[in-house]
Amino acid sequence: MAVIVQKFGGTSVANAEKIRGAASRAVAAKRRGYDVVVVVSARGHKTDDLVELAHEITKHPRPREMDMLLSTGEQESVALMAMAVHELGEEAISLTGAQIGVLTDTTHTKARIVSISTKRMQELLKAGNIVIAAGFQGVDAEMNITTLGRGGSDTTATALAAVLNAELCEIYTDVEGVFTTDPRLVPEARKVERISYDEMLELASLGAGVMHSRSIEFAKKYRVQLRVRPAYSDGPGTLIAPESDNATSVVTGVAFVRNEALITLVGLPNQPGVMSTLFSSLSAAKIPVDMVVQNVAREGTANVSFTVAEDELKAALVVAKATAASLQAEDVVATTGLSKVSVVGHGMQTHTGVAARMFQVVAARGINIRVVTTSEIKISVLIDRSRCNDAVQAAHSGFQLEKATSSLPQVGCVSNGHRNGAIDAASPELTADIVARLDSMESIVVSDITADTNQSRVTLSNLPDDPGIAETVFTAIAAGGVLVDMIVQNAARDGKATISFTVLRSDLDCAILLLREVMETYVGSIVTSDRRIGKIAVSGIGLRSHTDVGARLFRCLAANSINVEMINTSELKLCVVISADQADLAMTQLRTEFGLHANV
Ligand code: ASP
Ligand code: MG
Repeated sequence: MAVIVQKFGGTSVANAEKIRGAASRAVAAKRRGYDVVVVVSARGHKTDDLVELAHEITKHPRPREMDMLLSTGEQESVALMAMAVHELGEEAISLTGAQIGVLTDTTHTKARIVSISTKRMQELLKAGNIVIAAGFQGVDAEMNITTLGRGGSDTTATALAAVLNAELCEIYTDVEGVFTTDPRLVPEARKVERISYDEMLELASLGAGVMHSRSIEFAKKYRVQLRVRPAYSDGPGTLIAPESDNATSVVTGVAFVRNEALITLVGLPNQPGVMSTLFSSLSAAKIPVDMVVQNVAREGTANVSFTVAEDELKAALVVAKATAASLQAEDVVATTGLSKVSVVGHGMQTHTGVAARMFQVVAARGINIRVVTTSEIKISVLIDRSRCNDAVQAAHSGFQLEKATSSLPQVGCVSNGHRNGAIDAASPELTADIVARLDSMESIVVSDITADTNQSRVTLSNLPDDPGIAETVFTAIAAGGVLVDMIVQNAARDGKATISFTVLRSDLDCAILLLREVMETYVGSIVTSDRRIGKIAVSGIGLRSHTDVGARLFRCLAANSINVEMINTSELKLCVVISADQADLAMTQLRTEFGLHANV
């Protein structure tokens, strides 16, 4: 029989009435013919209350005892939920993490799943029970209780759905689903019907409240079909699946990070090892870095900019200044009061003009863009914080996200029509493989490394630092139907901006031709290009929170004397441009560094 996993968050089981409501959903699914596994969080603010209580006793509770304490929240919920199901006339049995057989490592308070034994659950399901599983918890090899980190019930639910080969994993929560942007800022924000795993991860700043990102990466790897649904109504919620619904819209959502600060190291020597030094120091100081940009060097020196959360600025500046001194950089410049606004959507891989449109809507409101970074499915701009709301609203209406089907005014729109909505059913071998790889899956930081040597780089320097420049440039490119891949704009120097971007090598000449006219209007501007570049992309989860990924990447490149020419980041990816001749070497070395097998 098909298995369905239903997860209920804290607010959805806060009191007896809500528990009854959740139980009746499980019973309804059972009566529709499903084998039902319910995963429950602690009620309401229970976990927070327990954390607070512990801190009333001691400032430094030991992690083992914290796990013992916190796991009780979920234990209470599963028992109550089982009772509620019994009242509705179905069989149910509650299980703790240990009883399910969720084996974890011993990292108390943020343990990783090593394996899950499905035997007992399968038997109970077969005997007609609804299985009520405690989320967020497991046991280590010594039977010590462990927890998976705050919000970890989502990960329990997705992992159970993966090992049980569930048809669907429903996440019941206190919102309608995933929205095109924060409805508090844009009242017209619309609930999205369907979103891809990658989009959900790139929208992390929006999605974070909705789901634990770790569980999305998990779902992506094992193709678990997820549906985020409201617990309080019959709303269909949002489906999180391999592909988004890009038949209807090019852009899926607008995300923003309000409090960013920018640090620029000016005049760094353009040689291998520089980035490694900087990022090793930041990582050692445990400072999470958000956007990282490096544009191509000029006159032998490079400028690197990165953003940090504003409250990390002080600490980051100490590190940046020390590093700058040791590398004999010319200067360190810090800017506060900035926000990052991003548009995310799979459509941009196949539609030209998305970047142009983004820059147009921002320019139309007279907002100056200070820094640009992109990934395949995301364009981020760094702007003044006072204009953040404006920019989010402008992007939202500019891409017509309030409408279910947007007719984005397109220039040279191409779509290869590639969509694959169906989810492959996992074979028994795959299930065995999932169980065997849970551990590596859970500890994964870097999931893929690719090299692309089919692109060329174009750099426009000496541009005025005014609103509307990026718009003009990318509108001209889009008008010629050229698809732009990576876009990097670093902080302006001496009132002059530099923008670099990459295009397919076969489009290079066309791109330069398209630019000729606009560049003539900017006196003193310069166009340079590099026909053969190597673009290395490192993707994974938590690149931002795992401060050492960047450090390891740059250390590995430096150890192999590979110079980094350009850097670009997103939530999901870290991209560097190096010389094409070194792309293979970089790939092999990085795959070894991050423990990826050649064909995974
Ligand atoms: N109860 C845990 C927490 O509050 C786990 C969860 O809700 O997912 O973080
Ligand atoms: Mg949660």
